[in-house]
Amino acid sequence: MQYNFSEIEAKWQKKWDETKTFKVEVDHTKPKYYCLEMFPYPSGKLHMGHVRNYSIGDVIARFKSMDGFNVLHPIGWDSFGLPAENAAIAHQVHPDPWTTENIAEMKRQLKRLGLSYDWDREVATCKEDYYKWTQWLFLQFFKEGLAYKKQSPVNWCPSCETVLANEQVVDGACERCDSKVTKKNLSQWYLKITDYADRLLADIEKLDGWPEKVKTMQKNWIGKSFGAKLYFDVEGSDEKIEIFTTRADTLFGATFMALSADHPQVEILTAGTEYEKAVADFKAEIESVSEIDRMSTDAEKKGLFIGKYAINPINEKKVPIYLANYVMMDYGTGAIMAVPAHDERDYAFAKKYDIDIIPVIYPKDFDKSKGELELPYVDGGIMSKSGKFNGMDNIKAQGEIIQWMEENKIGSKTVNFRLRDWLISRQRYWGTPIPIIHCEDCGAVAVSEDDLPVLLPTDVKFTGEGESPLTTSESFKMASCPKCGKMGMREVDTMDTFVDSSWYFLRYTDPKNAQSVFDLDKSKYWMAVDQYIGGVEHAILHLLYARFYTKFMYDKGISPVEEPFDNLLTQGMVLKDGAKMSKSKGNVVSPDDIIKKYGADTARLFILFAAPPERDLEWSDEGVEGSFRFINRVWRLVDELNRWLVSSPDVNEVIKINNDEDKHLYYMINKTLKKVHEDISTRFHFNTAIAAIMELVNDAYKYKENPNGMNRGLVTILNNVLLIMLAPFAPHMTEELWTKCGNHDSVHKQPYPEWDDAAVVLDELEIVIQINGKIRGKIKVPRGLSRDELSSLAMAEDSIQKYIEDKDIIKIIAVPDKLVNLVIK
Ligand SMILES: [Zn+2]
Ligand SMILES: [Zn+2]
Repeated sequence: MQYNFSEIEAKWQKKWDETKTFKVEVDHTKPKYYCLEMFPYPSGKLHMGHVRNYSIGDVIARFKSMDGFNVLHPIGWDSFGLPAENAAIAHQVHPDPWTTENIAEMKRQLKRLGLSYDWDREVATCKEDYYKWTQWLFLQFFKEGLAYKKQSPVNWCPSCETVLANEQVVDGACERCDSKVTKKNLSQWYLKITDYADRLLADIEKLDGWPEKVKTMQKNWIGKSFGAKLYFDVEGSDEKIEIFTTRADTLFGATFMALSADHPQVEILTAGTEYEKAVADFKAEIESVSEIDRMSTDAEKKGLFIGKYAINPINEKKVPIYLANYVMMDYGTGAIMAVPAHDERDYAFAKKYDIDIIPVIYPKDFDKSKGELELPYVDGGIMSKSGKFNGMDNIKAQGEIIQWMEENKIGSKTVNFRLRDWLISRQRYWGTPIPIIHCEDCGAVAVSEDDLPVLLPTDVKFTGEGESPLTTSESFKMASCPKCGKMGMREVDTMDTFVDSSWYFLRYTDPKNAQSVFDLDKSKYWMAVDQYIGGVEHAILHLLYARFYTKFMYDKGISPVEEPFDNLLTQGMVLKDGAKMSKSKGNVVSPDDIIKKYGADTARLFILFAAPPERDLEWSDEGVEGSFRFINRVWRLVDELNRWLVSSPDVNEVIKINNDEDKHLYYMINKTLKKVHEDISTRFHFNTAIAAIMELVNDAYKYKENPNGMNRGLVTILNNVLLIMLAPFAPHMTEELWTKCGNHDSVHKQPYPEWDDAAVVLDELEIVIQINGKIRGKIKVPRGLSRDELSSLAMAEDSIQKYIEDKDIIKIIAVPDKLVNLVIK
């Protein structure tokens, strides 16, 4: 019997497709399990990272199904976005057919991998039946005042002619085209995620099934800090400048005030003065540099004195007011009290502009005779040069100074977040249109829900120029105001694609619903996602936005859960020669080539065997060969066992263990069943599970040659167990063999076999128990017990009890699989 993988794999893929083997519906008689891999952008080419992501999810889905769960395992397409639009500009093809073709091609590749998706639940975010609901959800935010428009300076790529998010700006340049990023003021749509900052932060504590590093990244991104808001008077003016500080304890060391160049009071303070022009020039210069670059501690500090002084409220000292390139308008109040002795950036700035540096906190054990304090000193310590707070611990002083501010009505305790509102406007065509009509009289008005979806027009010119391609569509632009009927203008921005992916996991629970976003009962059954799997590059934004959306929908009674993902697995990268596979490095291995040469089962097996899922995986041609050989080895084994199989279940023959060979094989079968189950169900250690199956196959080959002959019942169990355990990893080959062994159902519909716990501990050995070096007893124990387990078994033994009951045990020496020696007195 030849192992013709290409024929076998094609045959079963067709069969699974035709019979919808992996289709699921709500079934209240079974527990559910929702396994989800982050849906792909349809670039048209599957890469090894995808193969890894989907193979991990597929094994979990298939395994949970064998374990008795009703498993939801859907897939879809995050299909709006820039590449389609760039292709449209470059080749003058419309993004729609370009995307549709790519989806078809990737779908073919996914099916070629034999993944157990319920294809009836496929969604594509660029299709009307999906983005209608993305728009509907936007309107719910808008109704609540959580979607709003504001003028703001944004990162602007003059070459791509689009707004860039901060994370798309790398070293001040556009991540796509490397052009220098500038600033531009645009009226943009925002979602008010900051209203949810506290809950998004607090609920991280509930995410027990998430990796710690991801939780930490989310916490840092939200960046909650406690501090104080307080006012500084401006000398010779009625203006007061409000500042936010997390270090009220350093107030006596504030020697200048630093404002963002965008700060609204700057103009008031400098209008008509000799500084006015310099301020305007400085502002223009600053805006050409991205925020991230400006805020980095090693960026060059740039500043400008604006000719005014503020009064430090705690000691009435005059401090100069500067503009500083590292102060951002959208963090805190856009103004800081600068304390150069205790802050790195303030220190660098003060050095450059020759401003006073006054240390007010010293380390507890500081000894002045041994030299000056090294500045900036950012740690805690004892207060100094701080009036009545001198000698106090700085943490205590912080509370007392804030209290003093509150008593004197110059400031108060406050909380600040690093998290900013979510800018969702994109000046792009290939995205969800924002369902708003701008009316001269009524302002921004929601499109009526009955008129959704607002369709993307097709009469658009893709020139790659101008602000928003939708302005080039005559049919789109004009629309009558839903409130007053007057002719207005449609919003021409589209939504950030992160909006589309913030709720797709909910749509999968009821993907065809035309009446509502999804049915609450269905989502109640399936949500939350039990296992979410994807790359760590999405650890912050996608996951945070998805959590935000889910919380908002929960509050509105739309989502049944408050947190979308119970467990998160962030898989490692696929490397070759130590580097991430990439075209530029020339180290890409194409999934298509591997599948053509070895088949999908080999590709899947290799990728799951080569490394635990959360670690990086080094590609190895020898490893692929090894997986291929193993699959062939199983193929030949089952081929040979076939003639010994009994039509199951032949109970009498099954339970008969005739000799040591039988006993060992029976032990191995049960041990492997138990280990594979443990490795997969709790830890996703696919590599050790596969290794255990390989060991069982080795023992099966040995058993075949044993002089006592074949125990047909046992061989039948071996055969079935082997195919079922391997089925999630190598679904095609096992399905073929399962059928060849005379079964009429699918191996993928078999329950995971129960193992015989008694058989697993068959592997016992005798160990010696000594007391003060003398042998006092022997006990039978399972092989491989730990020192602690051995010791407690030994001490619990009746024959030993009498020696130790009224003695002190001074020391226990345990040697696994050998002896325990109790030293007593
Ligand atoms: Zn660019
Ligand atoms: Zn109107």
